[in-house]
Amino acid sequence: MKRIIVAIDGFSSCGKSTMARKLAAEVGYVYVDTGAMYRAVSLFCLRNGWMTAETMDEAAINAHVGRIKLEFRLNDSGKAEMYLNGENVEHEIRTLEVANGASRVSTLGAVRRELVRQQQLMGEKKGIVMDGRDIGTVVFPEAELKVFLTASPEIRAQRRYDELLGKGEQAVYDEVLANVVERDERDQNRAESPLRKADDAIVIDNSDLTPDEQQQRLRELFQQKISE
Ligand code: C5P
Repeated sequence: MKRIIVAIDGFSSCGKSTMARKLAAEVGYVYVDTGAMYRAVSLFCLRNGWMTAETMDEAAINAHVGRIKLEFRLNDSGKAEMYLNGENVEHEIRTLEVANGASRVSTLGAVRRELVRQQQLMGEKKGIVMDGRDIGTVVFPEAELKVFLTASPEIRAQRRYDELLGKGEQAVYDEVLANVVERDERDQNRAESPLRKADDAIVIDNSDLTPDEQQQRLRELFQQKISE
């Protein structure tokens, strides 16, 4: 059977990862969450003091980016988890602080070039579902299926807020919304690979879709591409 590359891009907290992971599991493809890779780089920089809430030492980050070893390993339930230099950081990279750092560190050309290189290697054999911001535009411009997922900032903030509370973390809705808006702004306006819809991407606005409806739409698009 024909194996393809599925590129899923879109704003933060749109539910890209859930959607991409489910499709990959259904069709037996590898799933790659590229946001987790930028988050792991962010964690590494925060830990080393090259980045704080206010500052970013670009020279230090550029000098060390080649030292950052990123891997996905499957846990006992078969879910891919992020490893940073051999350490499982899946839990630690999900905080707001790390997410914010990721959106800043991802503006650096050296970081993007290194992660894009690793992502392209992962997709060499196709049979992959990858989600992020630049997958359909930069990482795999030749991807057979490109989806651009979107939803209103308020809905995305509410989902992220519920998710944080669900994990037992403290969160204030207005802060989560401000964080979503700030990250959108940075993702769309950075000089290096800004977030934009690829010309040939199909838009799914999931503001008013149930998770099942959204999944069904993606499944149909995938089946269409496979049978073309
Ligand atoms: O998708 P997630 O929210 O985990 O991504 C964290 C941050 O990493 C995003 O805010 C974005 O700035 C950055 N990112 C990126 N390119 C990607 C994936 C994520 O710039 N392909």
